[in-house]
Amino acid sequence: MRDEVVLSGIVLATGLVGEYDRRLVILTKERGKITAFAKGVRKTTNQLISKSQIFVMGEFTLYEGRNAYTVKRIDVKEYFHELTFDMDKYCYGSYFCEMMAYFTHEGDRAADYLNLLFVSLNALKKGLVPAPLIRIIYEVKIMDVFGQGIQSFGCPVCGNEKLSDIFDAKSGGILCEDCVKKAIHPIHISGQALYTLQYINGANFGSLYNFKVSDAVIEELSDIIRKFMDIYVDKKFNSVQIINSLS
Ligand SMILES: [Zn+2]
Repeated sequence: MRDEVVLSGIVLATGLVGEYDRRLVILTKERGKITAFAKGVRKTTNQLISKSQIFVMGEFTLYEGRNAYTVKRIDVKEYFHELTFDMDKYCYGSYFCEMMAYFTHEGDRAADYLNLLFVSLNALKKGLVPAPLIRIIYEVKIMDVFGQGIQSFGCPVCGNEKLSDIFDAKSGGILCEDCVKKAIHPIHISGQALYTLQYINGANFGSLYNFKVSDAVIEELSDIIRKFMDIYVDKKFNSVQIINSLS
């Protein structure tokens, strides 16, 4: 008899296996990122087919095998259908999932990661904040949660809290006046952009998506985050290239 476990999570990605099966990558609260196989799911009579999709959030009842999990049942709490039926939202949501899959591993305690992903998919679903701003907030916060965030409260070189208006990607954040001369590629950051960055870094998940900023600030922060991620995130995400081609 194989052991049965119930894990709560969100499906980050799916793939086809053989003629009838589907492979699910699931971020679970209890065990981090896991892979589970939904057997026979692509047969027309199988009830699991609509539940074995990206963004599906719920309770996953799984058989635990020696090397992999097999899906027995999925009790769905949220499908995020709104993301599936809107091309732009689908691309952003896929990117958030792909990025989360990059940062997480099996065995992680993932309650925070799961919470961040949930509030971000939910913000996309509701559409109260523009998607490019949701993307900025998610990128800044996910790097922060994983300990690779942009330093916005103190100089990344010396710790001085009296900051200048210069960002340097290689140094890791906003520099103080004394360290500005050490910047390799200094970029000016406006007061509003810095304030936004500090707000995101300091905010709890529940209040991440309750503000708006001008398009100019979105553009400025996007540029800063791109330059930062080029250095500190060692992966090119497929879904981000699709988003960039949309805009
Ligand atoms: Zn400094």
